[in-house]
Amino acid sequence: MNYQFKIEKPNQQYIQITAETVALTDNPVIQLPSWRPGRYELGNFAKNVKGFKVFNGNGKPVEFLKISKDAWQLTLAKGETIKIQYAYYAHLLNAGSTFFDATQLYVNPVNCCVYQVGEEQAPCTAELAIPEHWQIAGSMQQEGRKLQAANFDELADSPFICSDNLQHDTYEVGATTFHVWFNGITKPDWERVLRDFKAFSAKQIEKFSEFPVDEYHFLIHILPTKAYHGVEHCKSTVICLGPSYDVFGSLYKELLGVSSHELYHTWNVKSIRPIEMFPYDFTKENYSRLGYLCEGVTTYMGDLFLLKSKVFSVEQYLVELAARFQIHFDNHGRFNYSVAASSYDTWLDGYEPGAPNRKVSIYTEGSLLAFVADITLLKNTNNKYGLDEVMRRLFFNYALQGKGVSEQDYKNELEAVGNCSFDDYFQKFVWGNEPYEAILTDALEYIGLELVQKPAAAYSQARLGVKCIVDGDKTVAKNFYPGAPADMGGMMVDDQILAVNGVVINGNFDQWLNYFDEDEKRITVIRAGKLVELVLPEVSRNFYLEHQLKCVENPNNFQKKGFAVWSE
Ligand SMILES: [Zn+2]
Repeated sequence: MNYQFKIEKPNQQYIQITAETVALTDNPVIQLPSWRPGRYELGNFAKNVKGFKVFNGNGKPVEFLKISKDAWQLTLAKGETIKIQYAYYAHLLNAGSTFFDATQLYVNPVNCCVYQVGEEQAPCTAELAIPEHWQIAGSMQQEGRKLQAANFDELADSPFICSDNLQHDTYEVGATTFHVWFNGITKPDWERVLRDFKAFSAKQIEKFSEFPVDEYHFLIHILPTKAYHGVEHCKSTVICLGPSYDVFGSLYKELLGVSSHELYHTWNVKSIRPIEMFPYDFTKENYSRLGYLCEGVTTYMGDLFLLKSKVFSVEQYLVELAARFQIHFDNHGRFNYSVAASSYDTWLDGYEPGAPNRKVSIYTEGSLLAFVADITLLKNTNNKYGLDEVMRRLFFNYALQGKGVSEQDYKNELEAVGNCSFDDYFQKFVWGNEPYEAILTDALEYIGLELVQKPAAAYSQARLGVKCIVDGDKTVAKNFYPGAPADMGGMMVDDQILAVNGVVINGNFDQWLNYFDEDEKRITVIRAGKLVELVLPEVSRNFYLEHQLKCVENPNNFQKKGFAVWSE
């Protein structure tokens, strides 16, 4: 398929797309992907397609019938030229979207490029009618304003940014060139970026023995608004981070965290792929229970490589790891639904808070279980092998052999490397929902770390068991600790808290709770437009806790050795 992208009227944000090919069969089917790899839920990109028209080689209109929400069957004979025209609404700017305004054309082809069913393996080209002075950032081969991909999969996996705001530099690790592109309002601290990126890239490559692709691009949108996420691709990643003024200040550790995470995906998920997604089926849900491998191991390793490469100090790393512990202990969904089941359900509610205490996060639970697996392997191999070795084997024995990975394959490799059983690990903690505080603290102890728990600093969390969001002077209840006073007293999700003991709180809920510490708590809330008064029972215990990780003082030599191997 040959695509043309034309941009006019940036205020309207419609990209004019033409796609041309030859019919492979009579009445061929044209499909637009309904989801994008990296986000395992339906994206329904066809909702942005306007004015879908088809012409034959003589420029005559071709009739078509829509046969699903994102597929069109054309009334056309085999061998005839197909020329498809449509406008794509590019209004949303995030790491997986397509966006167009006066400053840039940013395309994730998986959102907006249709393909002919059966033609997925044929080469694709994309011609860009963009202003002369705009640069193009991305991993596809370029010839002037023409981009080339070996097949539809490569096209779909190769986002690009065209803009005159791009800033670019490179670094090398071995034979691989890494390109770092910043787009938007930003003043990159190049020296620090290139030094730190090179350090974690080199360490990841060292552990895997080789890098799967010949070059790599970090495509980083710096936004004036708050943003922090990324999407992985085989030869690139798109990252959104903001606001601009904090990126090389307080957000710099987030830039490192997300960049190391996305680079690790080059092996884990872009190469080592769940068998259910091998190959990707763009037309429907690709259910997999392996989110704890794809996202869990990547979340754990992405951060750990910042420690291993000495980009993060031990103290900095432990803050990141403790944040995972915090989310784990705060979410009572861990008693209800396993990480494997939650992975299957990303297609249902994986990227939203969802029903309270229903499910867990594949990122959080997956990363903590990866930590436990890593330490279990070190323990059982006299500190010779950790999870790195399992991932290296999955890369060489599966990815490079052109095979997908099943849950059993992952379990087999863990058991082969550790020379021990992972039956309990899977039955109880991956597939089941048994509490695993004990195996977490055991793993910490092995490397000389300890978990320190103390009551949450906020009175509302510690003593009432309610977590609120404060937005301006609005305080809104969002999460409850089951059985705590807020729950017992009948507080509901989205109650807006107005007053404590008749005093209007004006955004200072905890200050007033502290003030009335000894008294009964009468809380006035606005609930669906009505005033409601709640009386909360007094209970002398703490509910939500704060979790910190610390090095045990004077760890014995055995622990020190485990720590050294784990962190190097
Ligand atoms: Zn990820």
